[in-house]
Amino acid sequence: FSHGKPVLPGKTPVPGIKRIIAAGSGKGGVGKSTTAVNLALALQAEGLRVGLLDADLYGPSIPKLLALEGQPAIRDDGIFNPHDAFGLKVMSIGSMLAKDQAVVWRGPMATSALRQLLRETAWGDLDLLVVDLPPGTGDIQISLFQQTVVDGVIIVSTPQDLALIDAKKAIDMIRRFNVPLLGLVENMSYFIAPDTGTRYDIFGSGGAERAAADLKMPFLGAIPLVMSIREGSDAGTPPLVSAPGGAEATAYRAIGQQV
Ligand code: ADP
Repeated sequence: FSHGKPVLPGKTPVPGIKRIIAAGSGKGGVGKSTTAVNLALALQAEGLRVGLLDADLYGPSIPKLLALEGQPAIRDDGIFNPHDAFGLKVMSIGSMLAKDQAVVWRGPMATSALRQLLRETAWGDLDLLVVDLPPGTGDIQISLFQQTVVDGVIIVSTPQDLALIDAKKAIDMIRRFNVPLLGLVENMSYFIAPDTGTRYDIFGSGGAERAAADLKMPFLGAIPLVMSIREGSDAGTPPLVSAPGGAEATAYRAIGQQV
């Protein structure tokens, strides 16, 4: 069971994990992984035991975002010991690949890699596992939704129309699988010039909030385009770690409190 909901045939819970939420997007590069990392840390800051699974098999960025070193240890029984990053239990296919090595698997291979990462990892007892999905609507999404109960998905989009058109397709897919949509996060929402404090709505303003209303789903909040988020991502120290009381960390925590 998961949250009292019946488990559909073919769906098996992951032992020890109470709740699974996934972060999705229509397009790449909108900040889905950055949001997934900071959301996981924000939920941990609420006192939850949190894991993070990088299921973006074709473009895993979690090892960089959290400065994971090396491969996860493998126990005698073949089960992975996840990385520990700032208290999060983390698994990423990226940790298994050589630098710049591309994943060239077809669907069934990707599906079995996802199954292994999810089920052959010693997660321990977790209140919540955050899954960073690949962008779009492909094999990994289908495989995750078919093989286990996903309690909800958050969709990350930038405000401009093109990104939102793709986000709507991802939302449509999630609805077809009857997975609850927790809401939409608008990332890179606006930019505040650090020298003058002027706000620039580079990609227009309010697009994701209007789209969320059109799609009858909650709008979870807006994260501005901030240099420190990009720098923290590159350095493996997200804002929840480097400046837990700062404006960015507060914005992610406000999103975490709604999911
Ligand atoms: P995705 O997972 O959607 O492909 P990423 O999370 O990898 O996107 O983010 C893409 C790039 O944008 C990264 O360099 C990241 O540091 C940067 N980025 C993401 N969100 C923000 C933000 N709010 N402000 C500044 N840079 C950001």
